[in-house]
This record gives sequence, C-alpha cells and structure tokens, in this order.
Amino acid sequence: LFSVGSAPFPFEESLGPGQTQWSVSLEEGREGFEREAAEEGSSEFKRGGAFSDLTLLAQIRQVYILAQGEKGLFLIDQHAAHERVLYEKYLRQWDKGGLSSQYLLVPILLDLPPGGLDEPEKIEKVLGPLGFEVGAAGGSSLWIKAIPADLGPEESEAVLRELLEKLKEGEALQDKETLFRSLLKLMACHGAIRAGRSLSRDEIMTLLRQLDQTEQPSHCPHGRPLWFILSWEEIEKRFKRR
Ligand SMILES: [Zn+2]
Repeated sequence: LFSVGSAPFPFEESLGPGQTQWSVSLEEGREGFEREAAEEGSSEFKRGGAFSDLTLLAQIRQVYILAQGEKGLFLIDQHAAHERVLYEKYLRQWDKGGLSSQYLLVPILLDLPPGGLDEPEKIEKVLGPLGFEVGAAGGSSLWIKAIPADLGPEESEAVLRELLEKLKEGEALQDKETLFRSLLKLMACHGAIRAGRSLSRDEIMTLLRQLDQTEQPSHCPHGRPLWFILSWEEIEKRFKRR
C-alpha cells in the first residue's frame, strides 16, 4: 500500500534531543516484547504490509515512531500500537478458551484490603481464562500460582489488583462479554511497551509487522487513534509550494 524502496536508515548521526540512537538498553519490563520479537522470527509473520513496508526514520521522544511512506510522513504511537496488538492477541486466545499462562516457581502472596475478597471461588473462575491461577490464602489474601505468559510477575501483581477492583465495581453493571473485554484492555495496557522506552530498530519493525496482522490498526482498544499521516500535499501547502 505505502511501499517504499529500502532507503538508508539515517539514525546514527544528527539526531535531535529526545530522539533515540537505537541503542538497545535492557531495562526492566522488557522481557515480554523481546519474547514476542523472538517468537516472531520463527513464525508466519513474513509477508509485507502497510506498516512494515514504511521506511523507518526515527523514534521520537521515545514515544512516537516516525516513518516515511509513499503518501507522506507517518507518526505512530508506540504504546497505543502495541496495546492494539496485545488486545487482539488476548481476544484470540480468550476465544480459544483462555490466555496462555506461566507457572511461578514460587507463588506470590497478594494481600488485599480487608473485604477485598468476597467470593474467592468466583474470582478464581473469572481469572482463570485471563491466564491467572490463584487460590485463597486465608483472610483477604490470595496466592498467585500462575500468571499470563505475556506479563512479568510485578506487572501481574499490579494488573491483578486492578482486575479485582474492576471486577468489584463492574460485575454488577456489565454483561460478561463487556466485562471480559474491559479486563483484556486493562491487561493489554499493562503489557504494552510504554511511552518513554527506547526501542531498537528490530523492535520497531517487529511492532510494525505485528500491526500489519491486526484487524483494526487504526485505534487502540480504548479508542485513541494510534497513527496519523502528514501527507506530502499538506507539507507542500505549509511551505506554500502549491
Ligand atoms: Zn489505549
């Protein structure tokens, strides 16, 4: 659609402040996305697409991806884009019976505020399809035995607290489908690469290829647009070339 030849990738020199040099720093919380990048290498993500065919120019302010296409310049919000990717992935897994999970070698004890656990059995049932395996630990505490495969232990704990809160306030008001969708959005938000994280070129290409595979690459699951184009026409108008 927006295919471009393989232009050089001018990122080594002359980057402005806030633009990354594409150095791969292994800060925390990165494992999930790196694993996706590794998985991707061996799977079916081979064909080109609207996003992966763009020519990558830079990562800007560690928030946006700047790329060039046939029709203009594209700005893509890295967090919103990854959120969309994860949300659709979770939806697919959920349709097939539940999100993939990983067992913890050492279960985590989660202390909740008093009264935070009305019906532990019911909570177990809701959390199971989301990739969590939990068990009552007495009082208002829970054992976390397994967590979603895409989340780290710390993120899982944070997600679980929010999930429980959302369950409490939302269950009475929403039907099951709506409730699960909102829980999956929450998980996608926590699992997605954050704004402020520097990404390597490979990581960005992975993200763009994943975006090509999504069904709704226009908006994040919360409805925010995840990319826009500044067309060449628009740019020419701004410079009064036409
Ligand atoms: Zn969002």
